[in-house]
Amino acid sequence: MLKQFFALFVLSVSLFAQSVDDQYFEKNGEVYFRFPVFNKLELQEITKIISIDKFDGKMVTAYANKDQFRKFQKVGYKVEVLPPPGDVPVEMGNPRALGLWDVYPSYETYVQMLNDLAADYPNLCRVVDAGTTTQGRKILFVVISDNVNVTEPEPRFMHSSSMHGDETAAFVNMIRLADHLLANYGVDPYITKLVNGLEIWINPAANPDGTYRSGNATVTGARRGNANNIDINRNFPDPVQGQHPDGNAWQPETIAMMNLSTSNYFNMSANYHGGAEVVNYPWDSRVARHADDNWWQVISRRYADSVHFYCNNNGYLSEFNNGITNGWDWYSVYGGRQDWFTYFKYGRELTIELSNTKLVAASYMPTLWTYNRASWLNLMNELLSGVGGVVKSPEGVPVKVKVTVVSHDFTNSEVYSDSISGSYTRMIFTATYNLTFSAAGYDPVTVNGVVVASGVKTPLDVTIYPVGWVPVELTSFTSEAVSGE
Ligand SMILES: [Zn+2]
Repeated sequence: MLKQFFALFVLSVSLFAQSVDDQYFEKNGEVYFRFPVFNKLELQEITKIISIDKFDGKMVTAYANKDQFRKFQKVGYKVEVLPPPGDVPVEMGNPRALGLWDVYPSYETYVQMLNDLAADYPNLCRVVDAGTTTQGRKILFVVISDNVNVTEPEPRFMHSSSMHGDETAAFVNMIRLADHLLANYGVDPYITKLVNGLEIWINPAANPDGTYRSGNATVTGARRGNANNIDINRNFPDPVQGQHPDGNAWQPETIAMMNLSTSNYFNMSANYHGGAEVVNYPWDSRVARHADDNWWQVISRRYADSVHFYCNNNGYLSEFNNGITNGWDWYSVYGGRQDWFTYFKYGRELTIELSNTKLVAASYMPTLWTYNRASWLNLMNELLSGVGGVVKSPEGVPVKVKVTVVSHDFTNSEVYSDSISGSYTRMIFTATYNLTFSAAGYDPVTVNGVVVASGVKTPLDVTIYPVGWVPVELTSFTSEAVSGE
């Protein structure tokens, strides 16, 4: 008995005291660990050294690559090393072919599935290759819309999953969402409305090198970081900490997303993760609230409430304020994609933590689908509310303008119209507002008393005139008068 106890004791000590030497990093790329903090303010410095993954009020769970961990060790926290969450066996196969969506695809099957969707629905779906990773994998999107090969004046929504490669709750479910939208177009009126009214971009694997870390055949062995062991969700330019908040060059996965959102204005986006169960809204990088804080709370609440309905209030997605939190209130993050999109790209991005388990069992994915499907549709439907329309010159040419809500917008909360279609959407809490449309070289236009109601979009098309503009008819009349003298 004593011997058994001793053996157990030795085992647990060796587990906790596992040496995180260079060999460990060679094998694992990164280390997953936890440690207690006694004052939450400590997190504000810690978050600049390592990737905080979760904070429950006492215990911090975090990841670090070798350089980060060595730096963090100097600070002197005593840490407990945890097994990599990606090192669990999972069922592999073709989830779409089997129809049950309860297996993970190989990398090749994943690529094939997206191409199959586009081939099966050529008028509704196309595949966009947004870039190539360090190991040569593709960052792929399926785009879904009526007339998908034409840029129509429709708002764009982006779903993106698994930028932390080992957080796979939404990976297969995003392919399923694409399949669901396509299969139900023209059948289900709600889905038909979404596909007709929006351009929907779905990116199931934002960090395929991390997800397929051990090779294309399996997601077992997935890691948080990319092939360079860098956390993509700390690698974006930050509104507070500047262009390179993590001290690393922008990674291929980061650059792909930056390039894509330069050529396509995403009005709204959702960024799916795992390791917790909560809807996290901006900002992550500053304590001050976003100008649309009341709106963020409404849409986050709507997401969580619908999930609670479908999970029969079984406790799923109920952390913090019953499933929602302001980012900074949880823990501050610099270099995250949410704040980058929301601040620098004038978008609206949520970080949605879908599962306490990171690499979820394949058999659990259909359950997550049941819980979240309606919320995913409803999130897209938010883009069909607020105020929206098309901004054009008097000649009918679409114009990219800044749309400012008077006495309301600050810290980049204004939005822009699309440079190609001229369409804009300003989602906002229900009330009455004055909106100003402005662009260099044009006289600004202010429209007062715009009523925003719940669940419908207030239509507002705007004509914006170049400074000193003279109507064409008037010009020709004048010249005729001159020539007639
Ligand atoms: Zn994550």
